[in-house]
Amino acid sequence: MDLFGSLSAYDFGEIHLKNDKATGLKAIVAVHDSRLGPALGGCRFIEYENDDAAILDALRLARGMTYKAALAGLAHGGGKSVIIRPKGHFDRVALFRAFGKFIDDLRGHYITAEDSGTGLEDMEVIRTMTKWVTGVDPSTGGSGDPSPFTALGVRRGIEACVRYKLGKENLKGIRVAIQGVGHVGYHLCKELHAQGAVITVADVDPLKAERAHREFGAKPVELDEIFTVACDVFAPCALGSALNDQTIPGLKASIVAGAANNQLAEPRHGDDLHARGILYAPDYAINAGGLVNVAQEVLGYDQKKATAKTLCIYDTIFDIAERSKKLSAPTYRVADIMVEERLAAVVPAR
Ligand code: NAD
Repeated sequence: MDLFGSLSAYDFGEIHLKNDKATGLKAIVAVHDSRLGPALGGCRFIEYENDDAAILDALRLARGMTYKAALAGLAHGGGKSVIIRPKGHFDRVALFRAFGKFIDDLRGHYITAEDSGTGLEDMEVIRTMTKWVTGVDPSTGGSGDPSPFTALGVRRGIEACVRYKLGKENLKGIRVAIQGVGHVGYHLCKELHAQGAVITVADVDPLKAERAHREFGAKPVELDEIFTVACDVFAPCALGSALNDQTIPGLKASIVAGAANNQLAEPRHGDDLHARGILYAPDYAINAGGLVNVAQEVLGYDQKKATAKTLCIYDTIFDIAERSKKLSAPTYRVADIMVEERLAAVVPAR
């Protein structure tokens, strides 16, 4: 791969690599931007086709974290780490201990957390080697599972969109279609149900859809149907690229607001939504609640403060919607511009 070419393409930054023969650890730490503070972002532990794919994943994800942290008003830059999951047998504890040592060697320049393939137990192992880790057990001062905070932020973002687009002050009777009722989607159902919304869900795992039906009266529909059901809000909470050439034409919602990362298959799909008059809450703006929560852990965990900051997602989304109208620009571009202005205003340390 053209490494420096890729770094330039993503406006990087730094990249740190670790190859530990004893444990089989092959890890990448990507620090995209640290103008606002130490880079914060999760550790992904999955299999990759090859090393290039792992490096590109780290670069792409770390850049996204810079934008998410900056828009949420956090004193953090964007970073992400990737551990390439070994193909054969491996000692998980030894691997994560070695990773913890690697993180410690970076002396707080990058702070890690959970991501796909890692969990609380891995964070606890990392913690035996370094203090630069978040998302550890609440019993040891950690912030635990970020999903309820992500869901709270998404609910607030939906409320802002509903007020802006539909002129309603609450969610009573608002119809929300949720794609994916896993960790965040489940908690979002709970939040919306408590506010009187009418919920439709779809999940590849029928047991999860069934649970949403049982606990929150959500109506389960087929996977493809979730894009076209009559609703006010479509909330993508599954994987990325839910908004694409196939799905956008069928949307009946006037608002798209959900938790998934990378919802737009390509940036031009954000233009499509804008052209159709659909208000899109940019993914990294509305799903920042989990990051806000782990950032609070860095300062000394205080659930009240984390909640108060997560509630501010309402104002951010409302502001984006207003600016989008004023500038006649799609919301995803408006959010990017807000971040770029914030980063440009940072006075470089001498
Ligand atoms: P999860 O894996 O717990 O839930 C995803 C759910 O989507 C699963 O139940 C899965 O069965 C379902 N799903 C997968 N493909 C589907 C499809 N085609 N149609 C319908 N359902 C499908 O993940 P999560 O932690 O809830 O995260 C959901 C999304 O939100 C992800 O994109 C994640 O990156 C993003 N996100 C999560 C957090 C967090 O705090 N967990 C924070 C920010 C962003």
